[in-house]
Formats: sequence, structure tokens, C-alpha cells
Amino acid sequence: MRTVHDIAILDAVGKSFDVGKIRNDFPILKQRINGKPLVYLDNAATSQKPQAVIDAMTRFYVEENSNIHRGVHTLSDKATQSYEAARVKIQKFINAASPQEIIFVRGTTEGVNLVARSYGAVHLAAGDEVIISAMEHHSNIVPWQLVCAERGAGLRIIPMSDEGELDLKAYEKLFSTKTRLVSIGHVSNALGTINPVKEMIRIAHEQGVPVLIDGAQAVPHMPVDVRDLDCDFYVFSGHKMFGPTGIGILYGKRKLLEAMPPYQGGGDMIKSVTFEKTIYNDLPHKFEAGTPNISGGVGLGAAVDYLGRIEVEGAMAHEREVLRYATSALAGVSGLRVIGTARQKTGVVSFVLDGIHPHDIGTILDDDGIAIRTGHHCAQPVMQRFGIPATARASFALYNTVQEVDALVAGIHHAVKVFS
Ligand code: PMP
Repeated sequence: MRTVHDIAILDAVGKSFDVGKIRNDFPILKQRINGKPLVYLDNAATSQKPQAVIDAMTRFYVEENSNIHRGVHTLSDKATQSYEAARVKIQKFINAASPQEIIFVRGTTEGVNLVARSYGAVHLAAGDEVIISAMEHHSNIVPWQLVCAERGAGLRIIPMSDEGELDLKAYEKLFSTKTRLVSIGHVSNALGTINPVKEMIRIAHEQGVPVLIDGAQAVPHMPVDVRDLDCDFYVFSGHKMFGPTGIGILYGKRKLLEAMPPYQGGGDMIKSVTFEKTIYNDLPHKFEAGTPNISGGVGLGAAVDYLGRIEVEGAMAHEREVLRYATSALAGVSGLRVIGTARQKTGVVSFVLDGIHPHDIGTILDDDGIAIRTGHHCAQPVMQRFGIPATARASFALYNTVQEVDALVAGIHHAVKVFS
């Protein structure tokens, strides 16, 4: 059913984004939790899955399940075709130049670790530097700490403002002849800030420094064009963009990937093996050792197909409207402070409430059927920057509605009542 707000969005963009119809695609949203309709506002942790993705994975297991690449039999051939077709879908989804630049990994975390290990092994020496930012997820901090510690290199950190925006002037000053890589988030999971990555990539390239973008929180919310961004690496997770868990993507420019050593050794990543010498396989297989998550790849391909059927401008306008509505509704709750008020944000509202621990807010909201996340969101340096131990975080996807925001606000008032 369309709401007044949704109709306003239709009018504003002149196209058809029907949130009621979208919600019907996600069977889990019909659930009741603790006797209340599920209000799922934990999308930055993981998104729900449309029936089309669930069906694609079921169909794979029912009709095609087999190991890929090595088989001469029909099923193996079908499975290989489905898996490789998914790679091509993802290539087109982010506008990469070729499927060889699309490496299947477990998720964003593994993608960053792969680059840190492989690129770092060749390019990081004692005294070298990697630039990251103050708002990174732990998975874009710790892999760099590990490789830097091993090689005697160091991290430089781009600071951020009280609003949660990166300081670009300070960023420019971090470059030196020792800078080997920049690795930054496209969108912060803790604050929702959309970073001006295209500009930041341009600045790094002026210094001859390649850039990795952690796109975990960007791909579910906006079109991403890796060639337009001109990023050197781009990593993201399937499960945050309506696909399954355990599958994600590392995009890398072909030239860079070709010059990098393998990340793991094993089957599929080789052309030939003797005890004396192993010749590695071509891209992308060089970086895909062992039996991969085949059904996950197929499911991610189905998620890309699903997103391709959605009217992007309408979905983005809808998400912006839900964020605007939530930001203004939460501002009306006394004692509530939003952490992260950048000018450019996706649908993430992190907040603290006077006198109530975020975990207690989360527990009361769960009683009301509302799922949010509480804690440090794997971004402890962000919490330290704002001098808080944790936040409560509501994060929206294209299927959320303003009525669900109303339920959230009512739940917060409920928590205030319980704890006052
Ligand atoms: N980076 C960001 C910005 C994230 O939000 C997340 C997931 N919370 C990750 C990296 C890690 O993703 P995954 O756990 O799927 O590897």
C-alpha cells in the first residue's frame, strides 16, 4: 500500500517506485517478532533477501549442483556457466572493463585482506605508509596493521570533523614520497557519511598512489561505476546488497592484479604444478584457490539481476526521504543525539540517548519487534573520536517505510519510559 510520503516521491521523481510492491519481494518482512510486525532496521549489518535470490540458490542446488571448472560432465558445465555468468553480471553492475577484473571472495573483509597481503607483499617496505581514514570499519584497519607490522610500514589517518566528514585538506597533507596506497570507505557503516571518493582518488592519483575503496555500504544504495571513479581496487559484500552471505567481490584494475602474487595456493589457481615449479592460472582464477562459494556466486548474480529491475532514481529518492523523515523525527526525542550529521549520507542514523545504554534501547526495541544494532559497529576508533562507547544504529534499505520510522520513534519513547 502506498503512503502519502511514497506518493510524494512518485510525484517528485515522476517514476514508479512502489515500496509496498518491493516489500512483497522479501518474504521475511511478513514475519511477526514478539507478536509485533517485524521492523527490520539493521540493514547495514546485513540486508534481507528477495525471493528471486532465494529461488536462484534453490534452483542451483536442485538442478545444477556440481563442482565447477574441472568437470567434463553436463552438470559441471552448467554450474560453471551459472557461476561465470554471475561474474559477468557483477562486472556490468559496477562497469568493470572485463570479467577478469572481478575476483570472487568471501566478502569485503577478505577482499581487503587479499589486497593488503598480495599488493602489500610487493609494494610495502620499511618506512612506507598506507593512508586510511578515521571512520574505517575494522576490516579496513586491521589487515593494514598486520601487513604494516610485518613489513615495518606505518598507517596515516585522515581525520574527520564533528559532523563525521573527512578533512580533505588534512588528507592532501598526508601524502609523502613514502605513501604506497590509500584505502578508504565509500560510505561509513557507523555514521552513514558518503565520502567524496572520486575526488579523493583524483588527489591520490596526482601523487601516483593507487586507491582501494571499501564499498560495503555503498553498493546497496547507489550506482557504482568503478571506471568513472577510476579506483584501483573496489571491494564489497554480497549479503549487504540483498545477496547471500559468504560471497563478495574484489574488483581490481587488470594491470595491478596481474602484477600481484597469489593470495592463497591450491586447486584452480594453477596452470601446472610440479614439485620444482608451479605456474599460476590467469585472472581471475589466480586469486580463487579451492572450491569457491558457487551457490553464493549464483545468488549474488540473482541479487544484481534483482537490483537491475528496480528503478534506481526512485529507490534512491525513497531512501533519502526515509532518512530525512527519520532524522527529523528523532530530533524531536528529548535527550537524543545523532552521531554523524554529514551533508551527504545514506540511510544510517546512529544515536545516543541520555541516561540509557544503547544495548538497553536495542533490547526494548526488540520487544516491540524492531531490529536495530547497538555497539561499536566494528568501528571502535569512530566511537573514540566521538567520546562514546557505543551507539544505537537504525539503518535503512529500500524496503523500509516512514511508518517503520514512526514505530522506531514510538519504541524509543517506550525505552525512555522503562528506564526513567
Ligand atoms: N566495511 C564496511 C564499511 C562494513 O560496513 C562492513 C560490514 N559491516 C565491512 C567492511 C565488512 O564486511 P564483511 O563482514 O561482509 O566482510
